[in-house]
Amino acid sequence: MATNQSVFSDIARDPLHPAPIYRDEQVIVIRDINPKAPVHLLIVPIMPLTSLAQIGPNQESLIGHMFVVAEEMARREGVTGTGFRLVLNQGSDSGQEIDHMHMHLLGGRTLGDMG
Ligand code: AMP
Repeated sequence: MATNQSVFSDIARDPLHPAPIYRDEQVIVIRDINPKAPVHLLIVPIMPLTSLAQIGPNQESLIGHMFVVAEEMARREGVTGTGFRLVLNQGSDSGQEIDHMHMHLLGGRTLGDMG
């Protein structure tokens, strides 16, 4: 069950919040508080979309931008050569915990099977 909608919303809408390691007009990037890999970042839209279920044609550029930022962050973290994984959890079967859409960037070790 997804809960705690406000955590990412609070960080995203506070331009002075210290958590983001990257910020532009559309997204912030923060380090996951419970990292599953040496590099575990979260790309979070500033717009408080609950999940992919709220995405429509007006958000196509935002979704594309999230991937562009993910690639840039992977480069900054030094994992473009070794590889990385992007994950977007959607709904209860995925284990989505936070009701504010976000993309995980995982890297820095062999990640193994999806499961
Ligand atoms: P998801 O299961 O896709 O909703 O992922 C939520 C992620 O947010 C989990 O990996 C948590 O460890 C992470 N998380 C929860 N609260 C925070 C926080 N305050 N700062 C950074 N990461 C967080």
